Amino acid sequence: MKLARAGVMLAIVGAASGCVAPVKDSTAVASAPWPPTVASEVRITQEPLPANFALEGAIMQGGLAIGTAPADTVALSFNGQSVSVDAEGRFLIAFDRDAPLLATLKATVRDGRSITRTLIVARREWRIERIDAPMRPTKDTEAFLLLRRPELQRIATARAAHSDSRGWRQRLIWPLTGRISGLFGAQRIYRGEPAAYHGGVDIAGITGTPVRAPADGIVVLAAEKPFTLEGDLLMIDHGAGLNSAFLHLSRIDVAQGAQVTRGQIIGAVGSTGRATGPHLHWAMKWNDARIDPMLIAGPMPTP
Ligand SMILES: [Zn+2]
Repeated sequence: MKLARAGVMLAIVGAASGCVAPVKDSTAVASAPWPPTVASEVRITQEPLPANFALEGAIMQGGLAIGTAPADTVALSFNGQSVSVDAEGRFLIAFDRDAPLLATLKATVRDGRSITRTLIVARREWRIERIDAPMRPTKDTEAFLLLRRPELQRIATARAAHSDSRGWRQRLIWPLTGRISGLFGAQRIYRGEPAAYHGGVDIAGITGTPVRAPADGIVVLAAEKPFTLEGDLLMIDHGAGLNSAFLHLSRIDVAQGAQVTRGQIIGAVGSTGRATGPHLHWAMKWNDARIDPMLIAGPMPTP
């Protein structure tokens, strides 16, 4: 499937796969769909961006695109949110898992004119599992919440720490190769009541297998002791509002504040925190948008 490309008529035709397997951490997903499943009725003719306002990537829910702003752009906004543009005029935008299907990109150029483009965001089909049972009530004790609140605060602080790393300009690599055991966006619905969706991609692995940085970045969080849910948690900022989180590690090899390069070993697979078995949970965010690492890293390389 062709992903959205500037100046190219975009035709996304459903790659609907009929397989709906139960979603469970560390449970085989027979074959992770590649290209990712897009709603079958989506047939889009995207308005081509002018050559001087190019955009390349996955213009779809959970996707990410890198663009070039028109010459003399002084300000760029995406759905009203300010977006930074680097010295070469390059910028990054991404689409949340539940992003609306229309988005607006607006460049203001030096003479005060603005160039606005509407983007049609392809709707994804997520793996939904309907459970004919009530959702288990959360039994968060006061003791748990006492531990949890500062953890959430640390995660929020880490996400707010935007570095000037240029990792976002690189082609991302998989931090671990192996069987994909959980898809981003998968969700269980208990008698009509939706549970939180799966916010990352799970890759099954053996405890101790090295995990590598998918792109250059700055370590913004390296847990000294396991977090209650995430276990040994490591977070890397790739610049331009893009960051990665690696959960359930058995070991963290880099310190907070360290600069890492793509491919560098940053830790090892484990099952710390709330995990049913050893695997790597890799989550990515762009500002507040939760995005699908599989769309960004591309097909899993065969060993
Ligand atoms: Zn996971």
